[in-house]
Amino acid sequence: MMRPLLLAAVLASCGAGLAAAQERPVIDVHIHYSQDAWANLPPPEAIKVLRDAGLKKAFVSSSSDDGTQMLYKAAPDLIVPVLRPYRSRGETGSWMKDPTIIAHVEARLKANTYAGIGEFHAYGADADTPVMRRMVELAKERKIFLHAHSDADAVERIFKQNPGAYVLWAHSGFAQIDKVRDMLAKYKTLWADLAFRSDQAPGGRLDASWKKLFLDYPERFMVGTDTYVPERWHYVVEQARYSRAWLADLPAEVADNIAYRNAERIAALGLGQ
Ligand SMILES: [Zn+2]
Repeated sequence: MMRPLLLAAVLASCGAGLAAAQERPVIDVHIHYSQDAWANLPPPEAIKVLRDAGLKKAFVSSSSDDGTQMLYKAAPDLIVPVLRPYRSRGETGSWMKDPTIIAHVEARLKANTYAGIGEFHAYGADADTPVMRRMVELAKERKIFLHAHSDADAVERIFKQNPGAYVLWAHSGFAQIDKVRDMLAKYKTLWADLAFRSDQAPGGRLDASWKKLFLDYPERFMVGTDTYVPERWHYVVEQARYSRAWLADLPAEVADNIAYRNAERIAALGLGQ
């Protein structure tokens, strides 16, 4: 016969399993697995972090893209590869003026499958350099999205080049809520991630103005962590928990959209070609 304490432990673990099964699925659209993370967090451990967070999928882009490919190979069911143009971390501020990036990105696009190009950094007139213009063209040819860490000005310039571009605006541009609203109203194929910002739910409680924005644009937002330095991997599990908490203050359908459905839709854009 099972001892009462052990039985209690078994029941408790069943309960935890059940709770996990009922957790809202989440897709984290802003994960990087860059070179400086590889030694201390080898691919199996990185995958474990993403699974411990209960993620349905993770959009991963890395400096270099080899990091993304390693994770994708380890867990193709979990990883959605996005092509970061950088060959190393140091290219964040110079890549858009470096013509050798074009051949690199074209070769990667030929060799592998990607749901998008990014996350890249481009502000204002950066978006009009020949290198950036080529990124916009390549995304258009493949019907995939551009994950842009950009100000509103650069996003506008991208849409000027291709009015039908699919743009995932990283961090919602760190823009004020009114600006985010204006941009979503102006561009029908603009989506916005909420990575590394907390004004939508300070202290875990959904802000009323943001709630209204989510209800007005239920199909445009996504959640993410942004592991831009290795230390940020410590927050992936907590970030999923935080997102689930504030999403619960929204109608279930809207919460599901922001948690994972919008991400599934944008990831599938390029698959139909
Ligand atoms: Zn990032």
